[in-house]
Amino acid sequence: MIKITNKSNEKLSFKTDVNTSLMNAIRRSANYIPLLAVDSLEISKNDSALYDEIIAHRMGLLPLKYEELKLPSECDCGKEEGCGKCAIKVKLSAVGPGIIYSDQLSPKGVSLLKMPITILDKEQELEFVAIAKMGRGIEHAKFSPGLIHYKYEGDAKNISDEDFKKITEKDAKELEVSIESWGQLPAKEIFLKAIDSLNGELKDLLKQVK
Ligand SMILES: [Zn+2]
Repeated sequence: MIKITNKSNEKLSFKTDVNTSLMNAIRRSANYIPLLAVDSLEISKNDSALYDEIIAHRMGLLPLKYEELKLPSECDCGKEEGCGKCAIKVKLSAVGPGIIYSDQLSPKGVSLLKMPITILDKEQELEFVAIAKMGRGIEHAKFSPGLIHYKYEGDAKNISDEDFKKITEKDAKELEVSIESWGQLPAKEIFLKAIDSLNGELKDLLKQVK
């Protein structure tokens, strides 16, 4: 049984009587959903106040438009820089003065949000080529599609410590589940894909046991 309490592209909340172990398995499986993120960066010019490593880190955490590419391990190109099936080249060539935003990256629209990368002074330049690849949240948090969390029904703030200790899993009737997306995938899709991932893992296990 699922009773939806909040539904938008970014957030999905519902109450359910699904048991905690299963919900926890689904929650953890969200980190098995393949997602696109910048994986390597070659900086040719960087006159900004930020070190190359900081620029690379900021680029890694930038939410990119969702594309369904092959995971590098599943692509037969075997190239470090990837190919059209498993990687996307993202470029930036910017001159100051001003704040350099992620919407200046090419191809246009590759960055989901307009996020500041750095500030350049007059005539300062920033130029790089980045390679975005598919990966999973279990390898690095930058590949994580969002957040799934849950709690027992009711507001813990309004009960005393004494009462809180008395609450056991047996007493709690429902779980309040929330899925929050970082923007690449709709919240509902994250939940469905997490279930799919868990299903796939279980099928693999079943095959091995048989
Ligand atoms: Zn490839």
